Amino acid sequence: MPQPRKQFAQHWLRSDKALSRIVSAAELSATDRVLEIGPGTGILTRQLLPLAQAVVAVEIDRDLCATLAQKLGKVENFLLLQGDFLAIDLTTLLETATAFQNPNKVVANIPYNITGPILEKLLGTIAAPSPQPFDLIVLLVQKEVALRLCSKPGSRHFGALSVRVQYLAHCEFICDVPAKAFHPPPNVDSAVIRLRPRPVITPAISPRHLETIVKLGFASKRKMLRNNLKSLVESDRLTQLLEQLNVNPQVRAEDLSVEQWIALSNELQNDG
Ligand code: SAH
Repeated sequence: MPQPRKQFAQHWLRSDKALSRIVSAAELSATDRVLEIGPGTGILTRQLLPLAQAVVAVEIDRDLCATLAQKLGKVENFLLLQGDFLAIDLTTLLETATAFQNPNKVVANIPYNITGPILEKLLGTIAAPSPQPFDLIVLLVQKEVALRLCSKPGSRHFGALSVRVQYLAHCEFICDVPAKAFHPPPNVDSAVIRLRPRPVITPAISPRHLETIVKLGFASKRKMLRNNLKSLVESDRLTQLLEQLNVNPQVRAEDLSVEQWIALSNELQNDG
């Protein structure tokens, strides 16, 4: 097994149980084209290849790429791209690789140090959602992040990230993965999550405004929402709006559902 490199957040998954949970959560069929980020030694890749039509994997580490190319280079439905997933333009790179274009699913044990940017690249943002959303995204992430993505309003894990991602995708917690399932074990526990990007049912009138109030609203988690939004809207007006939305004016940001955030943003927009 290659020596894991810290700089690329390399932790090799070595649990068959975790692997099979990831693979089954991906609900693969023979027409799926899968994108994998950070194949590493190819332990997950090997499980994906027989179940999907095609797998395209992006790996930053040149040495790992060389080994992977040796091991899996002859497999017809596999394409390996060497590069930084955050920096590459997948569509351009796949221009001549017809069989691998427009992957519809993502399945990956990602490098935890770039989880936020990876999510943004896969989903887009509230103001600029991905124009070609994936059908399904299964990721192994830090448990703390999994809880934030999958929690409901009122939970202590519900934060700005929850609202931003849940605006764009339905998020499910699939299972826990203990640190000892990796070599070397990371300092944190992990979890498998599944995201299903979906069209926003009631889109915000101004997605940018929604982004702004979510950011401001969660700025200080212990404060009441109306204090966090003080710079944007007068306390009395906010109280009135919250009552209109059947929300206790004393609420904290973490108590509002995504729909309530949208409604609040839209009402504030109507104020002009
Ligand atoms: N999927 C493998 C490895 C997971 S570790 C397994 O389950 O065992 C994370 C992997 O992501 C490593 O192989 C690391 O080299 C790769 N990686 C780190 N940063 C990356 C980036 N910016 N773009 C693509 N791959 C990256």
